[in-house]
Amino acid sequence: MTHSYTSWGEQIQRSVIDRNIREAKQRKLDEFLEEHDYYFCEDCKENKPEKIDCSHNLSVADCHKNSCIELAWDVENIKLRHRSCHRKKDRSGLHFSNN
Ligand SMILES: [Zn+2]
Repeated sequence: MTHSYTSWGEQIQRSVIDRNIREAKQRKLDEFLEEHDYYFCEDCKENKPEKIDCSHNLSVADCHKNSCIELAWDVENIKLRHRSCHRKKDRSGLHFSNN
C-alpha cells in the first residue's frame, strides 16, 4: 500500500502512517510506564520472561482495509502483549475477521 484512507475520507501517505504509528507506540509506552511503573502484558498479565510488543487491537492491515487508518495511531487501539499472546490474538483475528 502507498496510502490509506481515514474514516472521514482523508488520504494519508504511507510514510505519514508509519511515522504516526511509531509516535503512537512511543506515546503508549510512555503513558503505560507513567501509570504502572513497569511494562506487563495486558492480555495475560503474567510475568513471563518474554518480549512484550505493542500490539494493535484492530490490526494496521484491517485499519487499511476498512478505511479507518486513523485507528492505527490511536493509543486506545494499542495494547502491550507478549509476543506469544500477540500471535495468539492475530490468529484469532483471522478467524473472526468479520467481527
Ligand atoms: Zn501475555
